[in-house]
Amino acid sequence: MSHGLMFHHFSDGRHPRGQGAISAREFKDILDYIGIDRILPALEWQDRSLAGTLPDDAVCLTFDDALRCQMDVAKPVMDSLGLTGFWFVYSAVFEGQIGKLETYRYFRTMKGVDDFYRSFDTAVSHSQWSEEINSSLKKFDENSYMKEYTFFTPADRKFRFLRDDALGPVRYEYLMDTMLEEEGFDAQSLAPLLWMNDESLRELERDGNIVGLHSYSHPTAIEREEPDRQREEYSKNRDHLKSVLRSAPTTVSHPSNSYNATTLEILASLGITLGFRADMKFGLSQLEQPREDHSHIMMTMGRR
Ligand SMILES: [Zn+2]
Repeated sequence: MSHGLMFHHFSDGRHPRGQGAISAREFKDILDYIGIDRILPALEWQDRSLAGTLPDDAVCLTFDDALRCQMDVAKPVMDSLGLTGFWFVYSAVFEGQIGKLETYRYFRTMKGVDDFYRSFDTAVSHSQWSEEINSSLKKFDENSYMKEYTFFTPADRKFRFLRDDALGPVRYEYLMDTMLEEEGFDAQSLAPLLWMNDESLRELERDGNIVGLHSYSHPTAIEREEPDRQREEYSKNRDHLKSVLRSAPTTVSHPSNSYNATTLEILASLGITLGFRADMKFGLSQLEQPREDHSHIMMTMGRR
């Protein structure tokens, strides 16, 4: 069945090879493996998806999170092959805010993932919440937690459980910011290396790509937010893209694959007609189209 291919991080001389990052060569290999002729231009994909005339074996390319490395590494490869895609952008980082998700990831990459997980475990166990966290950890089972993400290691799973389930966003950020500060890590100066800017978005649009919504601040679980907060997330995201691009956005990908019925209503009311999940659940609405993570494809290729 037709679906999107989902990409996040790329590496080259400037962009370090963090977890899951792929080089230009690997990107090209994935596209060849998929079959270049199966990959529809973004605008054609959008039209045919809405018309219900997508060929069964068609795929499209999608890029989440407005990452500078996508512009620097993936876009030149696509340009050379005459390909276009969907680029889903969260706006806070275009307006001077620090995207914590990405900053923390960069910190983790520079530190080395194993070393990072060790330091994080130590920070958790030395925190004022250690007792509560220890008792929540009894509910954690590394074999069943986020089982659908087959490429996660047991340590990845434990970290995600601690972050998303045991600590929650406020306490997690508090612990992380403390760690960054203790190690003298300067987040602000990294921004131009981590994220695109408005000019990048104009370039994407000019070259036939589609730029779509991905919320304003990229909450890890927008479905848990009140309807007003959800609406604010997507309205501010839409306002930003509208002010930069020639036309208002009509597409979305759900940040961290999170949404509920309210989110979908809000998106529809903002004029969004096509949306993507971050997994391969088929048969849902036009705002919940399936996507396959590039790491799954690499595993099928026998690369990871
Ligand atoms: Zn995202």
